[in-house]
Amino acid sequence: MPAGTASSAEDAVPGYPAAVDCDHDPDGEGLSAGTPDQGTWVRLCHRVDPWNDGSIDVCAQIAAPGLTATLHGVTLSVMGGTDLVPFLDGLATDFTGWDGTRTWTTLDGDLRIDAVFGSGGHVSLTWTLTPWRHQDGTWSASTTVVLEAGEQLSRLAADAHGFLS
Ligand SMILES: [Zn+2]
Repeated sequence: MPAGTASSAEDAVPGYPAAVDCDHDPDGEGLSAGTPDQGTWVRLCHRVDPWNDGSIDVCAQIAAPGLTATLHGVTLSVMGGTDLVPFLDGLATDFTGWDGTRTWTTLDGDLRIDAVFGSGGHVSLTWTLTPWRHQDGTWSASTTVVLEAGEQLSRLAADAHGFLS
């Protein structure tokens, strides 16, 4: 997206919460995965509809030992529906595995999920945050959580239905 388009889009949303102003409740409703006791987890929370048209914005958080990163106002859906839910459904359905990397990304590219089926029936989900909306610095961060391909992926998909549908 050209820079001019990005800035005019931001101008069209007065009062859009800057990163430091977001009031999201880290313990509010959302979906998460990982091993919090080991400090490695990913999470989506704070679902809002910034244009009152069925769009879905969320806050995305990732963590690993020595790292926490949060991205506010990640657009999952414009005017309703998000392909994240069927993406996670597909991972849960194909619990016998797949070749290569399956990738889902937001339209803005600010959240990407790469899913790799590994040994022992485990799936590695790598979440990468790459901010674009706020031009207050350039960074990217990622962390990888490992889920059991059957029950744990199914639970994540079910949580996505509950949170995003
Ligand atoms: Zn937030």
